[in-house]
Amino acid sequence: MISFNVPPYVGTELDYVREAVTVNRKICGDGSFTKRCDGWIEERFGAQKALLTTSGTTALEMAAILCDIKPGDEIILPSFTFSTTATAFVLVGAKLVFVDIRPDTMNIDEAKIEAAITDRTRVIVPVHYAGVACEMDTIMDIARRHSLLVVEDAAQGVMSTYKGHALGTIGDFGCYSFHETKNYSMGEGGALVINHEKYNERAEIVREKGTNRQRFLRGQVDKYTWEEYGSSYLPSDMNAAYLWAQLEVADKINEDRLSTWDAYHEAFLPLAKRGLVDLPTVPAECAHNAHMFYLKCRDLEERTKLISFLGRRGISAVFHYVPLHSSPAGLRYGRFAGEDTFTTSESDRLVRLPLYYGLAESDRDAVINAVREFYGRK
Ligand SMILES: *Cc1c(COP(=O)(O)O)cnc(C)c1O
Repeated sequence: MISFNVPPYVGTELDYVREAVTVNRKICGDGSFTKRCDGWIEERFGAQKALLTTSGTTALEMAAILCDIKPGDEIILPSFTFSTTATAFVLVGAKLVFVDIRPDTMNIDEAKIEAAITDRTRVIVPVHYAGVACEMDTIMDIARRHSLLVVEDAAQGVMSTYKGHALGTIGDFGCYSFHETKNYSMGEGGALVINHEKYNERAEIVREKGTNRQRFLRGQVDKYTWEEYGSSYLPSDMNAAYLWAQLEVADKINEDRLSTWDAYHEAFLPLAKRGLVDLPTVPAECAHNAHMFYLKCRDLEERTKLISFLGRRGISAVFHYVPLHSSPAGLRYGRFAGEDTFTTSESDRLVRLPLYYGLAESDRDAVINAVREFYGRK
């Protein structure tokens, strides 16, 4: 059986978790491992501030709160994304305005954003699908001209860059996920990247149950009080210890994933040349992190056949996402701006192949051969 995903495990995780429990004796949030992870993100990615969160979802929720959205304000996002890109903003009363994607990267089509802007628009939420960057120069230019904020959903984009800039550090906020299906993991977890200093203090308050506990801990105030709305967005230091083990060897994990991705890409180029499948496109200005390898079949029917063909050979391949604008909640909270030219039709064709840290070459080759066999019969 070849799994679609196996959570990353590099071997030092349990030593660090044990250290948190028996040496540091601090397992609540913001212990030494959390601080190390925050600092690593800031240094490695040139981020003004990074704060670990309990998930990518709660990083998005914090960003939505910090954007100060009022009920009825609109946000622009792709429909082809995970549900919580949307729910984080629904939580603060935003209306969702879905914009079509580009077929080459499956990212929001930057050329269709401006037509979706109204006088209620406040935020653009580009999602860097598969760790390949959206066209950020264009998106930041639109945001600047219309005074909009940009929250990057970089859940899949940790270690990817756009024109040399780390994803998550380009907009006003960036949101990472460290879920077990992502490149670096702590089980459930994430991080909020804050790219302007002016949000730092409020972010700390929102993350610490609405209190100024962080200022208290730094000795800046002599008692801590409830300042405003907040929740508990900080993860346990045990989880941060698990993540730290992986950040220490982030390049090794990245290279391992990229080698699998490159092997898939090379193996399937002949199928693409024969017009049997479409392969992911990585624009020249983007360096990606091999978060995902997908193929696009001719249509939904062929995809269903391919997935069951692989399943019969013990290979787990999956598809996603059902476009949000056609889901019950998407219909309730949002609308699609313009035409759905690619969102539905391209998502129907997409299939993801097994890709995780440590995927054996023999398993990778078994996947390659099975896909070739499927198309060999055509
Ligand atoms: C994984 C993911 C999320 C949510 O992250 P969690 O850590 O699972 O909450 C949000 N957006 C995208 C695009 C994702 O892939």
